[in-house]
Amino acid sequence: MRYMSTRGQVRNLSFKDAVMMGLADDGGLLLPEQIPAISPQQLASYRQMSYPQIAFDIISRFTGDDFNLTDLKALIDRSYATFDHPDITPVVKQDGVYILELFHGPTLAFKDVALQFLGNLFEYLLEERNQKMNILGATSGDTGSAAIYGVRGKERINIFIMHPHGKVSPIQELQMTTVTDANVFNLAIRGTFDDGQRIVKETFGDLEFKGRYSLGAVNSINWARVLAQIVYYFYAYSRVQQETGCKNLDFSVPTGNFGDIFAGYMAKRMGLPVGKLILATNENNILSRFVLNGDYSVGTVVETLSPSMDIQIASNFERYLFYLLDEDSDALRSLMENFALTKSLQFDIQQQARVRQDFGALTVDKAATIDQIRDFYQRTGYVLDPHTAVGVRAGEQLGGTDTPIVCLATAHPAKFGDAVQRAIGRAPEMPASLQGIEQREKRCELIESDTELVKQYVANHAI
Ligand SMILES: *Cc1c(COP(=O)(O)O)cnc(C)c1O
Repeated sequence: MRYMSTRGQVRNLSFKDAVMMGLADDGGLLLPEQIPAISPQQLASYRQMSYPQIAFDIISRFTGDDFNLTDLKALIDRSYATFDHPDITPVVKQDGVYILELFHGPTLAFKDVALQFLGNLFEYLLEERNQKMNILGATSGDTGSAAIYGVRGKERINIFIMHPHGKVSPIQELQMTTVTDANVFNLAIRGTFDDGQRIVKETFGDLEFKGRYSLGAVNSINWARVLAQIVYYFYAYSRVQQETGCKNLDFSVPTGNFGDIFAGYMAKRMGLPVGKLILATNENNILSRFVLNGDYSVGTVVETLSPSMDIQIASNFERYLFYLLDEDSDALRSLMENFALTKSLQFDIQQQARVRQDFGALTVDKAATIDQIRDFYQRTGYVLDPHTAVGVRAGEQLGGTDTPIVCLATAHPAKFGDAVQRAIGRAPEMPASLQGIEQREKRCELIESDTELVKQYVANHAI
């Protein structure tokens, strides 16, 4: 299996090189040159397989001949041994919809599914190449803690995560700052999430610095993250199919950066019988405008109850565009150059029709999110987190009547207790991993939002 960039200037990479490259050197995103197909027989065999077994079967189709399969299997097993549920991502049925619980990893959000795997993969490849890496990232909440948990304690990696001081939820902050492994550095920036992102961009833009300290990134553009997420679409299908005998399955996905739903799109292209893929957004609805009106124009980010989806430029969107443009890298490149200038893309009627064959979409605002959490709780006793509520709302409204629907539950409700409290009048139950978290030892450095200061800090603490 070889990898190429959406923009066509990087080709013929191995899986290992694609993982280490992250963002393609020509500014595009990496994709496999062919999409492997899963036959109906193979699909049926997943019913008897555990999550890690399915993960191995799928991931090994993308890793190529130079990845030792025994090592890959051990790496996958290790990545999911940290989950606190024997099924890893259990599927539960509530009032006619299937909820795919993706929040049983160490930080209680679905990003663990990909970042536990990516952390182990980085460790393995760095060992093999006798290299080291300093990861630098900015977070508005969930990504930072999942990345930290993905690499804590690893020998060849130091991780530096900036969060906006006082602007992430108390639980999200504690999940990061109570990790006291020597290779983890939390930086609380006096500024906003955008300041953090700007510092990351400027630091990576200094190529001399980037090379000298072997800077690495963990943002959702890394192909390995998408790959790990393809697995649970197949897993969910195998479980619901077994129960219902259904032929097709619909999925509803709360969406921000288009990573999670793009994994579903890939699963469909690999042969998973997906009926509708429903893209659910909050008020930051650039993606649902794209699906419904062919209008991909950047607005200003507004704060919502589902902060991990408060995004206007979806970093994985280019991967889908590549397929929408029939894999024409030249056309894609000029489209993205145009987008960089105008912050807007418009699609014609034919393209819009194709997009709507691939996706449905709905925008769910604050009031509807609260209403959904409350109403679902009254019907079922099950507590949704606000991100999941956006997806369940869209799933209940747009799902087919004959086809079962799976709604992806992307976070544990305890991570977003305020919204839950507002909706149902009580706080969600605290899972064991959060109990007593306020009392634990913390490590965090408060720092001005200044690129030179952050670079100095990284230089002083780099591995
Ligand atoms: C990151 C995140 C999302 C959005 O996922 P994308 O891959 O960016 O679309 C949704 N819900 C939660 C809880 C998240 O952390």
